[in-house]
Amino acid sequence: MRDEYTWTLVGGDLALDLCNTRSWRGDPDRNIERLCSLTEYDSWREAVAQVHGTELPAVTDKAELARIHLLRDTVLQVLDTRAGDREASGDATRRLFEMWMSTLSRCTVSNSVPMRWSIDPTRSTAASDQLTLHCVEVLSGNLDLVRRCGLDECSWYFRDTTRNHSRRWCMADECGNRYRVRAYARRRK
Ligand SMILES: [Zn+2]
Repeated sequence: MRDEYTWTLVGGDLALDLCNTRSWRGDPDRNIERLCSLTEYDSWREAVAQVHGTELPAVTDKAELARIHLLRDTVLQVLDTRAGDREASGDATRRLFEMWMSTLSRCTVSNSVPMRWSIDPTRSTAASDQLTLHCVEVLSGNLDLVRRCGLDECSWYFRDTTRNHSRRWCMADECGNRYRVRAYARRRK
């Protein structure tokens, strides 16, 4: 049994904090899945409620957890493509669009403008549906301030809301420090 992980939700947005449930993505030896089990999802859900004030539905079966993994990994592919890591093939955006269409079939729409849609609770109580709506909203909006941590092996995403938009690290005292120590060692060589 793994030690309980303390969530640090520094993405500034639920969609980005979902992406950050994989740690050390840029390092194949350390790459860690943080949402392995329903218990881990549950503790993440609690952290999300505290940090973002969003009440996500509970997840009670592994198939639903797998849908959340697929959504997250698709969003990561879209963002990594944007960051220049991958050739833009359009596959990831198309997959996300299909997930969104499926979710929309379980939505209801407001009868006034501006049009608003939300999950129809009689058709779905799935966390994956709620997360899909949110992720698409973020990815179809302005991404200018969405950045990836400057430490390549970390590769967490965050929204830079600093006044002069100069944030480079998910956590300055972790990744920023690690980067500086390494740069210093390189200079000494
Ligand atoms: Zn980082």
